Amino acid sequence: MSDQCLFCGIVAGEVPSAKVAEDDTTYAFMDINPASDGHLLVVPKRHSKDLLDIGAADLADVTVAAQRIAKAVSKELGADGVNLLNCCGADAWQTVFHFHLHVIPRYVDKTKDRLVLPWRPGVPGDPAAIAALGARLSAAVD
Ligand code: AMP
Ligand code: ZN
Repeated sequence: MSDQCLFCGIVAGEVPSAKVAEDDTTYAFMDINPASDGHLLVVPKRHSKDLLDIGAADLADVTVAAQRIAKAVSKELGADGVNLLNCCGADAWQTVFHFHLHVIPRYVDKTKDRLVLPWRPGVPGDPAAIAALGARLSAAVD
């Protein structure tokens, strides 16, 4: 529990939420500003700031919970697809600094779905630059 953290407050029941599911290590609740019908968030109960901070076990638990909930959401709401989204850092649109996965059901019916692609698909990069960055990253991964 981190003082002043909104999602720690939700996990503790001190801040109201529309709970969807809970287990020993994770908590899922509806997003109050939904990008589509059924948009929800899955968080670890233990506080971690973001993707770079969260422990491997909590990350695994949150991801598996998100998959289980995505299956239920797809079946119950008749979603045509699902996006999982994580924002890590303010420059990557993170606004609440307690790790969370967005589970965003997607619909052909756009009256239920306000999410749009944040980049222009199909714009090729420079192959040499891509390969050079790939090589740097390959050498940097533990
Ligand atoms: P992010 O911008 O990736 O950090 O996502 C934070 C998400 O938390 C946003 O989609 C907000 O709509 C959502 N949010 C903020 N406050 C609450 C709250 N009290 N209950 C549910 N969702 C919230
Ligand atoms: Zn927290």
